[in-house]
Amino acid sequence: MIFATRALLPQGWADNVRLGIAEGRIASVETGAEAGAGDARVDTLLPALSNLHSHSFQRAMAGMTEYRAAGRESFWTWRELMYRFLDRLTPEQVEAIAAMVFLEMQEAGYAAVGEFHYVHHRPGGAPYDDIAELSTRIFAAAGATGIGLTHLPVLYSYGGAGKKPLAGGQLRFGNDVDRFGALVQAARAAARGLPADTRVGVAPHSLRATAPDDLAAALPLAAGGPVHIHIAEQPQEVADISGWLGARPVEWLLNNTSVGPGWCAIHATHMTAEETAGLARSGAVAGLCPITEANLGDGPFNGPGWLAAGGAFGIGSDSNIRISLVEELRTLEYSQRLRDVERNVMVTGPGSVGTALYTGAAAGGARAMGREAGAIATGDWADLVAIDSTHPTLCALNEAQLLDGLVFAAPDGLITDLWSAGRHAVRGGRHIARDRVVPAYRHAVKELVGGL
Ligand code: ZN
Repeated sequence: MIFATRALLPQGWADNVRLGIAEGRIASVETGAEAGAGDARVDTLLPALSNLHSHSFQRAMAGMTEYRAAGRESFWTWRELMYRFLDRLTPEQVEAIAAMVFLEMQEAGYAAVGEFHYVHHRPGGAPYDDIAELSTRIFAAAGATGIGLTHLPVLYSYGGAGKKPLAGGQLRFGNDVDRFGALVQAARAAARGLPADTRVGVAPHSLRATAPDDLAAALPLAAGGPVHIHIAEQPQEVADISGWLGARPVEWLLNNTSVGPGWCAIHATHMTAEETAGLARSGAVAGLCPITEANLGDGPFNGPGWLAAGGAFGIGSDSNIRISLVEELRTLEYSQRLRDVERNVMVTGPGSVGTALYTGAAAGGARAMGREAGAIATGDWADLVAIDSTHPTLCALNEAQLLDGLVFAAPDGLITDLWSAGRHAVRGGRHIARDRVVPAYRHAVKELVGGL
């Protein structure tokens, strides 16, 4: 049982809320309750968000590409360092880095992660003896931290638009559709040993890394799980796809695939007004990664157009340059304000922006993950986060202002407790596996970076 002084329920704030948890799910919600003797007691309880988009290994590169070399720095020069990492990265390092990243996510308030997993093979491209070796390393990291996992093995067949061959670091990603099918099957089999909230979907990497016929053949492999795809992140990508397929990426997706509920369009940055409205109305979730998009210089998302068309969104930490849930939401809103020279943008009609961002990302994120979560409701997975509303940043605020304070004013350390499908991973602001996970991470990155 969990007892909260206050909790954000689907109908709004409630006082003295007691939750019963059974088999990882919320079994009962009682308001105006009294605490029981053995209850976990917290101050303010919120539904915990899903982090819908992560490439965990990239965390080890954070801070290594923030200097200006000759010429214009761009996404593509960042990608060069990522490929150098890939010449060295071992399965043990993949696991140690993922565990560190998942731990940091839980301490930041994320109960679950969508791991968009595209490094599959050995350096040079030869498969491991177990084709799903690196998927099982991600599973081990999820197991070590208790985070909820939606695993998204990535189909990556080409080095660029128009079926360019793979080269260099990309060889570790490469599969044709047949081998990708075997990989998904092996990952699903390995995932059977994981907790019941684990999901396996599929992720065609992007239109530039697949082709129309491959995409059509790969989509059935989702078997009811979520489909994630990077789309329209960079102007160069829009130009390349337009030149090759005769349509802009999102336009092509809308006209040639079943894109809709169950899909998550990662980034969806460079869209026309028609593409924005069309994709929003399709029911696909926009997978926004505001900190990474700012870091890579991608550009801002069309928030007002998306919300006006009734679009759902969630957030992801993508490159994991920084893992902060509140900063992710804040950056999303501020990117809109800076572009539009306006305040309070990511909300439809009058109301609290912090609440709209938080509850919107909770519901959309869970939907994109194929995860029954995103609200404190009976039957959902117990993805819960507790914050301390007596912290100086929040203590002057009333309930209606609390999420505005959390999103716009708070430091990162307000989280006291976090449960991922009932697994109580963060207690007193600290992850219970910290003492094991951090030394393993230090060892792994020392080894990895030492040879660069
Ligand atoms: Zn990504």
